[in-house]
Amino acid sequence: MNESEFFLSLQEPSFLYGGTVYETLRSYEGRILAGKYHYERLEKSASYIGCKVPISYEEFKDILNEAVEKLGQDISIRVLLLPKGKISAFEYSPESSELIVYASVLNLKKIDKVTVKISKVRKIDPSATPADFKSTGRTDILLAKASKGNAYDVLMLGSKGQLCEGTFTNVFIVKDSKVITPDLESGILPGITRKNVIQMCKEYGIPIEERQVELSELFAADEVFLTHTSRGIVPVDEIDGWRAYKTSFGKQLSELFETYIKKVEENWL
Ligand code: PLP
Repeated sequence: MNESEFFLSLQEPSFLYGGTVYETLRSYEGRILAGKYHYERLEKSASYIGCKVPISYEEFKDILNEAVEKLGQDISIRVLLLPKGKISAFEYSPESSELIVYASVLNLKKIDKVTVKISKVRKIDPSATPADFKSTGRTDILLAKASKGNAYDVLMLGSKGQLCEGTFTNVFIVKDSKVITPDLESGILPGITRKNVIQMCKEYGIPIEERQVELSELFAADEVFLTHTSRGIVPVDEIDGWRAYKTSFGKQLSELFETYIKKVEENWL
């Protein structure tokens, strides 16, 4: 069915009370990248609201492969899991869930200059909302996105001022040929692209550190890059109003990444 033909009831619980969890996937040359990791992350998000993914990984994979075949080109896929059951202002007892899979042709527009901003809104502390609860109702991400303007993404700090991530990206800095990224304890989504980049650096002997990163280190970095499923590694040209960066190392890593992910078996299970 067409995107604009999908209707939700005004009584849809996830519309009225939130709790929709989601994943965004893509295909590379006709194969879904990291489908298993995305499925497992969806399961984890769903578990926070007491829901199970209503289909097995095998069934999930079949649906995605059918979409790739139908569209005949590389695709972007949005998967939404809507909790169903007794959900109201007075009760929250999801009894089941419904999965919506929406696929469209992957449309990666060329970006001449990647600018990011720093959000004034901080990430909700993981003690209040787990950082790996990937839900459409996250107000921290919504408010950061609202200040995005023409920037590619907005970087968010955590409650202690530590660098966390963008609204749909993880962030890496490069300093003195070392690659550094906020650790999971900083309160970030465990990005699947991030995971691949870390593994790739380890495999190729590129020094990589996962740790708490201060905002001052972002400003003092030689290079900065973002990671997310649709584009892989995205070198950053500028932090809006603060400073510009070189992008040569990030561009090299980005090329390496395209080759690396294809040879890692776990990405294609
Ligand atoms: N951080 C956040 C908050 C995200 O929503 C996303 C992806 O949607 C990412 C990071 C990047 O994750 P991945 O590499 O799995 O696409």
